[in-house]
Amino acid sequence: MAGFDFTDARELLSTVKKIVITTHVSPDGDAIGSSLAMALYLRKLGHEVVVLTPDNYPIFLHWLPDNENVLRFDSDKIEGTRAVDAAELIFCLDFNSPDRLSGLRSLIESKNCPKILIDHHQEPKQWTDVMFSDSNASSTCELVYRFIDGLDGLQYLDKDIGSCLYTGLVTDTGSFKFPSTTSETLRITADLMDLGVNASEIQSLIYDNSSEDRLRLIGYALSEKLLIIKEYNAAIIGLDAAELKRFNFKSGDTEGIVNYPLSIASVKMSVFITEKRGEVRLSFRSKGEIPVHTIAKNHFNGGGHVNAAGGISDKSVEDTIKYILQILPEYSKKL
Ligand code: 5GP
Ligand code: MN
Repeated sequence: MAGFDFTDARELLSTVKKIVITTHVSPDGDAIGSSLAMALYLRKLGHEVVVLTPDNYPIFLHWLPDNENVLRFDSDKIEGTRAVDAAELIFCLDFNSPDRLSGLRSLIESKNCPKILIDHHQEPKQWTDVMFSDSNASSTCELVYRFIDGLDGLQYLDKDIGSCLYTGLVTDTGSFKFPSTTSETLRITADLMDLGVNASEIQSLIYDNSSEDRLRLIGYALSEKLLIIKEYNAAIIGLDAAELKRFNFKSGDTEGIVNYPLSIASVKMSVFITEKRGEVRLSFRSKGEIPVHTIAKNHFNGGGHVNAAGGISDKSVEDTIKYILQILPEYSKKL
């Protein structure tokens, strides 16, 4: 990222008023945190900004500053389309390929205006005018901080912007535990705390905000559904639609379940499979050098990072588990 030329971004920003910020489907803390932080920052510079997401995000993120002004394309296509039609510039945050926009894809892709991408996923496709991309960065929020720094805008940061950025930093680093956490990540976090960000309160809002149903769903997943494949140091948990319904599933309830099996000393790769809205999705996590984004890309039309990836399956949850058991030997050298 060293040496990135901010001239184009600076010039673009100096000529436009109406800006749309968008992010990937099923936004996580980094996606929505970076989008809201950027929106709050750009508004301070006098821009009219709309944050437009493809769909909803977990309830434990709804406390974020300016959450009430986020437009959701799945539930408000008319306003969403109007915002994109009017946009003179679009920011694409926390994704590197337009297919991650899901239902918003054609609207954003066909919109003829400059686009700026800020992202930390591997193998970015060159599809926007400006790409501020670094796959070594802990999070898009870290990159948004660096981007604002590059524009000499750090003096505009405040507690609300800091709280949004802190949320993405915390959620994408597993509370500063994953190897992507660098000294720079922590230095940025310290700067945010100096703005008045209440780190402990935010961690509580994110992590101590479960319903009883959610905790029981996690209990069920771990005690009844955890499959350990000793030979390959792998773990799989699959939950179908009926099981989610039994626990009154709400958006965000399965967030983080994929991480639990990695707390077993011998488990190096964890796969979590769910069926939601007729779609079977996979989440992968790994320890060390096991490249789960390769497995997601090769078999599940997905991608992500070395230690965290996702994809989609055209099979049932049960058949997806069988399929993973079939392909594991291909990766035995890495596992
Ligand atoms: P999660 O398991 O939290 O949904 O996703 C883990 C990581 O993989 C995230 O960084 C996410 O952006 C990426 N990811 C998840 N699903 C997909 C997908 O369908 N395609 C691609 N390219 N990346 C994904
Ligand atoms: Mn991210």
